[in-house]
Amino acid sequence: MTVRRASPWISQLERRRPVVALEGNEAADTVVVGGGIAGLATAFFVLRDTDRDVVLLEQGLVAHGATGHNAGQAVAALEGWFDEMAAELGEAEVMQGYREVLSGWDRLQDILTRLERPGDLLRVEGKVALSTPEAVRSLMNERAKWIAAGAPHMAMAVVKGALSDLPEGVKEVSEGEMMRVLRTIDRRYIAAVCMASGVLNAAVLTEALAEHLLVAYPKRFRLFERSAVRRARLGDEVAVTTDRGTVHGDNMVLCTNGYTDIEMQACEAPVYQGNVKGVVGFMAGRFGDGPDGAEAFFRGAEHGYYYLTRRQYAGRPFICIGGPEEELGADERYDAAKDYDPQAYEHIDAFARETLGDRDGWDMEWHGLMGYTPGGARLVGADPGSPSLLYNLGCNGIGLLASLAGGWKVAQLMRGTLFPHSMFDPSRLARDRIMRIV
Ligand SMILES: Cc1cc2nc3c(=O)[nH]c(=O)nc-3n(C[C@H](O)[C@H](O)[C@H](O)COP(=O)(O)OP(=O)(O)OC[C@H]3O[C@@H](n4cnc5c(N)ncnc54)[C@H](O)[C@@H]3O)c2cc1C
Repeated sequence: MTVRRASPWISQLERRRPVVALEGNEAADTVVVGGGIAGLATAFFVLRDTDRDVVLLEQGLVAHGATGHNAGQAVAALEGWFDEMAAELGEAEVMQGYREVLSGWDRLQDILTRLERPGDLLRVEGKVALSTPEAVRSLMNERAKWIAAGAPHMAMAVVKGALSDLPEGVKEVSEGEMMRVLRTIDRRYIAAVCMASGVLNAAVLTEALAEHLLVAYPKRFRLFERSAVRRARLGDEVAVTTDRGTVHGDNMVLCTNGYTDIEMQACEAPVYQGNVKGVVGFMAGRFGDGPDGAEAFFRGAEHGYYYLTRRQYAGRPFICIGGPEEELGADERYDAAKDYDPQAYEHIDAFARETLGDRDGWDMEWHGLMGYTPGGARLVGADPGSPSLLYNLGCNGIGLLASLAGGWKVAQLMRGTLFPHSMFDPSRLARDRIMRIV
């Protein structure tokens, strides 16, 4: 089997729009930088919920960043253990952040309804599989916290005899049942938690959103691709400059997945190339069989974590697995065309063999960039030093619903809505004094 180094989600894009680059100067109330799901969702909610007009600038093409290179699973989760995040960011702030991510489901529904594309999201039952008693106890703690924050009920099952003290409401099952639930031949998993989940092609959705906004708001929305922002001057007004022109506006929203080498003038910007950790995530996919679903497997002994989704793709069942990651060096730039460590795909092979007994190889392999801001959480809202600079970024590995929720929140902030403190507030970086004065 020949493996294509290509993202299945980008392969499904059917672009009908010409590429229009910024040539000359423009003016808009809001300048959005970044044409991934975060940028288009931000533009959508600003256009829908305010009377502001929007110019969006994308350095490459819409949906070709992380939005086109992920696992395509919609799930309301935070990357990190609740207690650890609460110790660093505050318990109430983490609870609020989780509620915001959870609201991403409603925002996704808003967009699907507006685009008249309800079929773009396939609801599936998500399962998290755990292999050690310590991980099971930690996850029980997590589950209780998320339920307290408003998460829908999450059923949990544990293999008989695996835990000495079984909490109320947790179902005991045989090892065989557990393997059946998780659809694996691997006997190592002793517990599973179910959560609402969905699969989608985020690139197709984002491109559809771009097309829709151009048609629905011909006077209030302009989109320029192949227009990398080099410089931004901030103050009461903003001036956002590419190689071929400048957009003047009241404010600017950075939706650049955390990575930015934009030269910021007159601002205390907490996000810049040097303090965002770049992590490359690897994925492989193949046509196979079996019903749709989404499972995440935590393999305690080796601290490994893999995620597996199954969905219909081009009319056939498609299995896609991810997990291995590679951290980039401090000054290393991500190269979408580069062959990073081939061992990453070997790890995926090994996982597939142990989990599915599978020796079929892969039809497609791809990788994408995750940006981790200090503290690991995304940034949503205004810069503590320069209110005309707002953020909806800090992609990390579970960012689709969070990007939608962030876009909505940014639009409401522009309307003057006040929100409880959240772990995503950019002020956390000011508090930690992780700032650079340019
Ligand atoms: C391997 C992998 C698997 C993942 N799996 C999942 C998953 O299953 N579920 C989930 O919820 N999340 C997942 N994620 C995360 C998810 O993909 C991201 O959170 C989401 O796509 C981020 O969207 P974004 O718009 O912030 O970033 P991007 O899609 O990267 O968009 C940012 C855009 O900004 C542009 N840009 C940057 N700098 C400039 C500039 N100076 N001027 C103009 N434009 C600029 C870039 O070109 C890019 O198009 C995964 C990520 C990876 C890498």
